[in-house]
Amino acid sequence: MKKPYDSVIVGAGIVGLATAYQLILKNPGLSLCIIEKEERVGAHQSTHNSGVLHAGLYYKPGSQKARLSVSGIRQMVQFCERYDIPHEICGKLVVATDESEKARLEKLLERGQANGLKGLKWLGPDAMREIEPNVAGVAAIRVPEEGIVDYQAVVLKLAELLNELGVTISLGTSFVKATEEGQNLVIQTNKGAFYTKRMISCGGLYSDRIVQNSNLRPTARIIPFRGEYYVLREDKRSLVNHLIYPVPDPKFPFLGVHFTRLIHGGVEAGPNAVLAVSREGYSWKDLNVKDLMASLTFPGLWRFIRKYPGMCAYEVYRSLSKSEFARSLQKLVPAIEKEDLLPGGAGVRAQAMYSDGALVDDFHFAEAPNMLHVVNAPSPAATAALAIGETIAERFMSTIQNKKTTI
Ligand SMILES: Cc1cc2nc3c(=O)[nH]c(=O)nc-3n(C[C@H](O)[C@H](O)[C@H](O)COP(=O)(O)OP(=O)(O)OC[C@H]3O[C@@H](n4cnc5c(N)ncnc54)[C@H](O)[C@@H]3O)c2cc1C
Repeated sequence: MKKPYDSVIVGAGIVGLATAYQLILKNPGLSLCIIEKEERVGAHQSTHNSGVLHAGLYYKPGSQKARLSVSGIRQMVQFCERYDIPHEICGKLVVATDESEKARLEKLLERGQANGLKGLKWLGPDAMREIEPNVAGVAAIRVPEEGIVDYQAVVLKLAELLNELGVTISLGTSFVKATEEGQNLVIQTNKGAFYTKRMISCGGLYSDRIVQNSNLRPTARIIPFRGEYYVLREDKRSLVNHLIYPVPDPKFPFLGVHFTRLIHGGVEAGPNAVLAVSREGYSWKDLNVKDLMASLTFPGLWRFIRKYPGMCAYEVYRSLSKSEFARSLQKLVPAIEKEDLLPGGAGVRAQAMYSDGALVDDFHFAEAPNMLHVVNAPSPAATAALAIGETIAERFMSTIQNKKTTI
């Protein structure tokens, strides 16, 4: 048997790369290998997202999302400054479009304050229009610490640094299953076996299948929710200065269609949230029968649909109707017309769901003595990747040293 790696990390998305980076920075002697099924790093969620740096406004105080986004945004901004990665802390407005949303906006302000965000400000209509002259609504919160970033550049820089630090990144290498062999694990892939003392899986949209193929029972299923974007026509970009978000519905982890200025120019509008017919497919046409059947035969999904039938039907309708998409956006910026929206990209969120239909709200990890799986790492996991990686690295080292910490 070949000498085992200290750890094999499955998945070279931003979470897998950041985890390897934190591990090797703090423990330079470790032998690490990342296996990634695509021929490039960051091929899925990490580069199909809104490109926003979230500071922790939305998340339940004390949750991992709250803790790791607050420290994660600071680490990510420092990383971007250090390596000259395009980013801008332009601030965000979260807007209550009518009186009925004001109470929820107030709760959001309280959450943000409890999570330690700095400089949050409650704005009336005049004050918010000084920042975003085209916005409609009755009140807003300004979140000055948030911004935009080029996550593609972040993953490429992480991969470059990992190469320099001696970490092997094996592209085009698909995890098939992991089995124990003595003290070690054998990871079977399409390119043969990898031997390791421990495995860390950061498989994004396939995280539940990796858990299952590691002889563990997944406690939740990944349900892929596609988010579609439009981009604003060039002559309408000036309608949006920075980031304009609605007040989210607290029942769902998605933030609602919003406007995002992109770091390399242009303005995006979206994303919505519809059931994806393929875990890594970016349109209705990208059907993967196995993925779709896995979602449709999962009782949790039907319980979720029965709980929120109106919302589920509306999301499908809005995905198929550009006029309806435009109407949602007009609540925030009334001057937007359907004709101002050009087709944009899409991303698929890996959202874990329990079999009772409840969405797993927080980041979620599953552990066995020689493996750790990142089961649920939805937004803001791109922002928080370095903090998530740091937490996993600490946990990993404490397991080796046989100390107890909780994730
Ligand atoms: C539409 C959308 C908008 C978002 N907006 C934001 C935002 O503005 N800000 C923010 O902070 N977050 C945002 N997010 C969330 C963020 O993008 C994700 O939380 C983050 O990218 C998760 O990173 P990851 O590394 O876990 O997953 P991924 O980037 O999906 O990486 C997982 C990797 O595992 C690989 N893999 C899977 N199976 C295998 C296998 N069997 N063998 C080998 N490799 C495998 C995949 O190919 C992939 O490269 C958004 C997400 C979406 C979808």
